[in-house]
Amino acid sequence: MSPVYNFNAGPAALPKPALEAAQKELLNFNHTGMSVMELSHRSSDYDAVHQQTKQLLKKLMNIPDTHEILFIQGGASLQFAMLPYNLLSSNKIGQYVLTGSWSEKAVKEASFIGETNIAASTKESNYTSIPDLKNVHFSDNDAYVHITSNNTIYGTQWKQFPDLTHAPLVADMSSDILSRSLDVEKFGLIYAGAQKNLGPSGVTVVIAKKEIIDSAQTNHVPTMLRYSTFSKNDSLYNTPPTFGIYLLGKVLEWVESIGGLTKLEEANEEKARVIYETIDENNGFFSGHAEASSRSLMNVTFTLPNEELSKSFLTLAKERGFVGLNGHRSIGGCRASIYNAVPLEACVALRDLMIEFKQAN
Ligand code: PMP
Repeated sequence: MSPVYNFNAGPAALPKPALEAAQKELLNFNHTGMSVMELSHRSSDYDAVHQQTKQLLKKLMNIPDTHEILFIQGGASLQFAMLPYNLLSSNKIGQYVLTGSWSEKAVKEASFIGETNIAASTKESNYTSIPDLKNVHFSDNDAYVHITSNNTIYGTQWKQFPDLTHAPLVADMSSDILSRSLDVEKFGLIYAGAQKNLGPSGVTVVIAKKEIIDSAQTNHVPTMLRYSTFSKNDSLYNTPPTFGIYLLGKVLEWVESIGGLTKLEEANEEKARVIYETIDENNGFFSGHAEASSRSLMNVTFTLPNEELSKSFLTLAKERGFVGLNGHRSIGGCRASIYNAVPLEACVALRDLMIEFKQAN
């Protein structure tokens, strides 16, 4: 079979060694005579998987003891609501920085629950950049300040995070968690659907300051929407997505085997450089959507001179085994999602294809 280059935006490419490790023990996990999916979530065999996955995530992301790791279902989209249900009490304001469609969805959900405010936004410039928060006047009444660390659709990414003292910083990190080293201490709460850098869809990782979970006023909140239900029960109040957590563990083992987040960050920078350089060197034919200073290392978005050329480039790409290069319908053009598991070879192959196409047209 000729090579397939997976540039899907999510669910996305997973590291082959993680899939192979899972394949090897699919029918007989740890001498149990059954797959990991068939174990009771209360069994010691499953518990070992659960604990090891948590410990390895804590180690790789350098998560301090002040923060709790939770495994929740419902995707990042449920977090749009779960966050305000827990943190946005009646006399407080949820502050949102709008940097794309996912932040818009996050603030919309919060507005069903409490008072919200748009602290800053780059919507007017079609979300080509990350705003500067220097001149934003926050209020002492802020429950939290919510940002989207990487904007999957527009291809922009926060390079530096604001230092907030008045309220917790909350980040939707669905599309760049585990892609670079990070000071988790800076964040009150981080959430991410797994299906880009962490594993299969079905599990959502939440990393939250224990103090925030414990002080949340949730008497009116249904049990499954309280962070404390997950923290008090080690994410085992009800049946967790056991296979997703298991595969997340395999992905984390792969990350550790290649040298952790510093190594991944270097590799991600190199991969993105190959494609952005091609865009810049052929400027006029390929145009990047994001301003250079806000460029995402995870989702590279670009257009061709017209719709017709875009279409024929995507057709050629498809014929050559490139999958998932269509831009999101809201901005069109092309998008190469180059998450952790996408190898440098795929980015080099894309560069060669872009150059070949430009020369032929
Ligand atoms: N936030 C971001 C930044 C995303 O990229 C996505 C999914 N592509 C979501 C939220 C929604 O995630 P989910 O499908 O897990 O609800």
